[in-house]
Amino acid sequence: MFNVAVDGLGGCGKSTVAQGIAERLKFKVLNTGAIYRALACAYLDMGLGELSDKRVNEFACDLAIDVFFEGKDQHVIVNGKDYTPFLRKEEISKFSSMISPYPQLREVVRRVQRDFAKKYNCIIEGRGIGIDVLPDADLKFFLTATPEVRAMRRYVQIKDTPNAPTFDDVLADLNARDYADEHREHGTNIPAKDAVILDTTNLTLEESLDIVEEIVRKRIKNKKQS
Ligand code: C5P
Repeated sequence: MFNVAVDGLGGCGKSTVAQGIAERLKFKVLNTGAIYRALACAYLDMGLGELSDKRVNEFACDLAIDVFFEGKDQHVIVNGKDYTPFLRKEEISKFSSMISPYPQLREVVRRVQRDFAKKYNCIIEGRGIGIDVLPDADLKFFLTATPEVRAMRRYVQIKDTPNAPTFDDVLADLNARDYADEHREHGTNIPAKDAVILDTTNLTLEESLDIVEEIVRKRIKNKKQS
């Protein structure tokens, strides 16, 4: 299998680039943020109360996670329930970032991700993929952009939804989540030593895709020849 890890900061275009590259190469793509978001939904839905090691442990011990695709759309089922329609809510963004550092939960999600990587030529996109989940990935990318550009991209996506936050709220939230993801003990979101770092601040989506596609195709060719 050929596996590509795509990590990066919030709002830097990881999901869109991963999806676009997967389409160009006819690879599968796994959005791992959606898995953490679905777990956050399930935890809240089960009314388990304030986060603690003990509660997350119990939650993690009894989890069935299933990922399936309807065309391009990824669905995440946790304990039989499809949380896909709720994943992008602001409260879920915040809570997923609070629950995701727990190592017992990361272990369960790591297994789901590694099983996927074993089965498919794929792009796995998220945080800590290149270091923690697929340290032997064929290629690793780490995407960045300035905080203002990242916040604006996210703001444009949600500004017309009911109770949409202001641009300043989006920026503050992104900065807080990135700080937390970067400074946590488990699944730290920093570039792997062998990652290609791509700053997308001044790039259009097509330009980012062209750059990433060229690098991936070269690596695939080299792998076939070796
Ligand atoms: O990428 P997205 O914003 O959907 O991710 C939601 C949250 O899930 C992130 O803020 C991060 O805390 C967590 N996450 C993670 N590891 C991943 C993907 C996401 O910890 N591989």
